[in-house]
Amino acid sequence: MFVDTHAHLDFCDDIDDWIERAKEAGVRKIINVGTSIEASKKSVEIAEKYSENGSRIKFGMTKEDDFQIFASVGIHPQDGKGDVKKFGSLLHCFETLKQIAESSKKVVAVGETGLDYYLKTTDPSTHSMNSGQANSGQTARQLTTDKEREFQRKLFTEQIKLARELNLPILVHCRNAWDEIFEIISNEHDSHPEFISGTKKKIPKQNQIPKPIRVDKIRQVRDDMVRNDRGGVRGLFHSWTGDWEAAKKALDLGFYISFSGIVTFKNAPKVAEVAKKVPLDRMLVETDSPFLSPEPYRGMENEPKNVIITAQFLAKLRDIPLDTIEDATSRNTQRLFNIQ
Ligand SMILES: [Zn+2]
Repeated sequence: MFVDTHAHLDFCDDIDDWIERAKEAGVRKIINVGTSIEASKKSVEIAEKYSENGSRIKFGMTKEDDFQIFASVGIHPQDGKGDVKKFGSLLHCFETLKQIAESSKKVVAVGETGLDYYLKTTDPSTHSMNSGQANSGQTARQLTTDKEREFQRKLFTEQIKLARELNLPILVHCRNAWDEIFEIISNEHDSHPEFISGTKKKIPKQNQIPKPIRVDKIRQVRDDMVRNDRGGVRGLFHSWTGDWEAAKKALDLGFYISFSGIVTFKNAPKVAEVAKKVPLDRMLVETDSPFLSPEPYRGMENEPKNVIITAQFLAKLRDIPLDTIEDATSRNTQRLFNIQ
């Protein structure tokens, strides 16, 4: 069984065709990811619709014939300003997001959320997902204003809190913001000793000892299941683009690493290096459809069946059978999202 842990079926006009081809290829689960409040609503609708048509095990079907779509609800860092404009305030955005999350058992995660310091602003008039280009001669960091960064951090932090409240994992999007993203997650772990200790008692704000944010002091807890049981921040980094140093930090925080078609690109050797080293029990695969088609389809519209091309690439890269990647990634998905 293959699982596409990150797709945007709502961006596609031919969902039925995508699903048919994915089923034929051996994909059995897809997590459809919300990028805004509207997209999150759609994501839940799609998951519900295909759970009726496709997920029930009928007479004569084996477990392997089962097919399910799950949903994630969240606000992408580049969509935050647009949602605030539409829904009035950040608070109202999160109330709405929470309602959507609680409306269906098909919701298994919060995201995609995170930090994206690639584009100049999140002004919706200039926004086009996954399409920003940095001006030559300027670094990405220079392109993102302090105000913008502050807004994105708030948007991310609030979604972490929502995920914790709902006991769901987060799907993290990160572009040019590794240090800050690790600081925030680490800080969220550390600022909730009530969860780490396993007691549900809230520590009054005035009694909490503020800790300086230090990436090098990230808690060395590798067992994400412990975090799961105790309510800490858990989740995955989607469409991994960082180097091994960054990957080690993500793993130390108990996170999974999900590889998209980017790992197959010839100009992404650092991503391939991570894919070679990451423990099998922390590895996931995704398409990010309709974006990021793997080689040799780079540049063309991507779809969930292509998750197998990426899995094949990973098997070859690590010199292990495809079955091993298939088993590990499907087991990891079931463990992280608590789905069967
Ligand atoms: Zn995405």
